[in-house]
Amino acid sequence: MSKPTILTVDDDPQVSAAITRDLTGQYGQDYRIVTATSGAEALAVLARIALRGEQVALIAADQRMPKMTGIDMLASAKDHAPDAKLLLLTAYADTEVAIQAINDIGLDYYLMKPWDPPEERLYPVLDDLLEDWRQANPDHTADVRVVGHRWSDRSHDIKMFLTRNHVPYSWYDIERDAEAKRLGDLANATPADLPLVLIPGGDTLRSPSALQVAGALGLHTTAQQPLYDVCIVGGGPAGLAAAVYAASEGLSAVIVEREAPGGQAGQSAAIENYLGFPKGLSGSDLAQRALAQVTRFGAELVLARDVTGFEARGPVRAVRFSGSGEIEARALIVATGVSYRRLAAAGLDELTGRGVYYGVNASEASQCQGDEVYVVGAANSAGQAALNLSRFAKRVVLVVRAASLVSTMSQYLIARLAAAPNITVRYCNEVLGAAGEGHLEKITLVDRISGAIEDVSASWLFIFIGGTPRTEWLGPDVVRDDKGFLVTGQDLMSFGGGSRWPLTRPPYALETSVPGVFAAGDVRLDSMKRVASAVGEGAMSIYLVHRYLATV
Ligand SMILES: Cc1cc2nc3c(=O)[nH]c(=O)nc-3n(C[C@H](O)[C@H](O)[C@H](O)COP(=O)(O)OP(=O)(O)OC[C@H]3O[C@@H](n4cnc5c(N)ncnc54)[C@H](O)[C@@H]3O)c2cc1C
Repeated sequence: MSKPTILTVDDDPQVSAAITRDLTGQYGQDYRIVTATSGAEALAVLARIALRGEQVALIAADQRMPKMTGIDMLASAKDHAPDAKLLLLTAYADTEVAIQAINDIGLDYYLMKPWDPPEERLYPVLDDLLEDWRQANPDHTADVRVVGHRWSDRSHDIKMFLTRNHVPYSWYDIERDAEAKRLGDLANATPADLPLVLIPGGDTLRSPSALQVAGALGLHTTAQQPLYDVCIVGGGPAGLAAAVYAASEGLSAVIVEREAPGGQAGQSAAIENYLGFPKGLSGSDLAQRALAQVTRFGAELVLARDVTGFEARGPVRAVRFSGSGEIEARALIVATGVSYRRLAAAGLDELTGRGVYYGVNASEASQCQGDEVYVVGAANSAGQAALNLSRFAKRVVLVVRAASLVSTMSQYLIARLAAAPNITVRYCNEVLGAAGEGHLEKITLVDRISGAIEDVSASWLFIFIGGTPRTEWLGPDVVRDDKGFLVTGQDLMSFGGGSRWPLTRPPYALETSVPGVFAAGDVRLDSMKRVASAVGEGAMSIYLVHRYLATV
């Protein structure tokens, strides 16, 4: 396989030579650096690369070129290299057009010229863009291989686990791919062995649990130390932020995550309201960046473990895992967010994982190629999912109970749904039931106004109807509201916390009714339910942990 290309386009020979020199020195080992001196020449180069079936990772174009501007060139380049990252080299005077191009052509970044010294002003930007590109275009030669049935919930769970933990894998459908049959025969696999998970240069796992896959991949599934300063349960934005701040401020910290780092945010196709990312970023990208930061600062990550018990042992706060294992720490942060609420309709439970899904991730979206897809929900998460699915599906139908989306969804998403030619919104509709032999084939919808019932053929139903916290495992001493949200700080007083709070000092802002146990993010009563606020609370909880630890 040939190296992916980085193409630079600049009509000024001096600038062109300088950028080629800088890029060859830094990236020449992994990428082919190609230079063009005009927009037309660049498009011709890209057409030839596309014909050869090769990949283009990044195109860096100067804005001010005669005949064709950089933005026009990059817009046309997308026909030949749709996945390439687009970088515009600009002068200060072009800032406004560059910002506009983020919306208009999906420009990834604009860089002011000159970029000296490149170590500070060029390479960090390109490292980021190329890392994103690599994530989205993994090298499949080193992939984990998963062989199974398309509509098997076990296969779905394993694919979900790998995707969300950023483990590249190739999927082989036993009913459709000759290679799947070959791999199955080679492993002497019986139907009960599916899904098969083939680890490169390693084991063949037969119908494994996520914990077994994690173990075979060398991910940590147990804690390394007997006692930590702080244990964080939940690796969503709140938990990851807490880990970054804890580890960067010298606390020994461990996060326990049962599914995959990133939490709910990890499933978002495009987070557009998070500060500092004007083009938006996918939840998976955010999770990946946060994980790199957590690892860099040295916090420990324990994966594929479900925390199911809590105990205060004198000054020690201990959590127990499902099955066996536990962690002891001097303080605990609960950042477990919310889990999808189940939709109560006949037939849905039997078909969950077989065409009916709660949430959606990128790998499922691409599997809906050419199909008819139904999405249930009226909040931003449902709107984002519908838009993401519409890139692959023939048609997406958003099923909404209310007569309008105005009070539940952001205006920018409503406008995009309306503008998408293959998205229909069915207002005042509800899912009454679902049916299918082995996988989803039919959904029954009811019109809430006329009462009319209609059966529609569909093999995909994605449900986004909000979430509830799962906090029972904390036991009776940690005060919760009737839905399970954790009550913290001053709010404890209105929940009878005055009598339940054991210390003379008042509880800190994010502290629960058990001293040294904090809550951050969506799991906390009256939190804002956004990525930025979860990150903020995660960071703030560490400040409070410091204060708490100083008292014990
Ligand atoms: C599809 C979608 C799109 C969204 N888009 C946006 C957006 O564009 N902008 C925005 O601001 N917000 C968005 N949100 C909301 C945002 O994602 C949440 O507010 C945010 O993720 C909350 O972070 P958190 O860390 O509190 O909890 P979560 O993200 O819910 O993370 C909690 C983590 O804890 C883990 N966990 C739970 N219980 C246990 C246990 N017992 N043991 C071990 N681990 C456990 C879970 O597996 C999960 O990974 C979106 C949400 C969804 C679902």
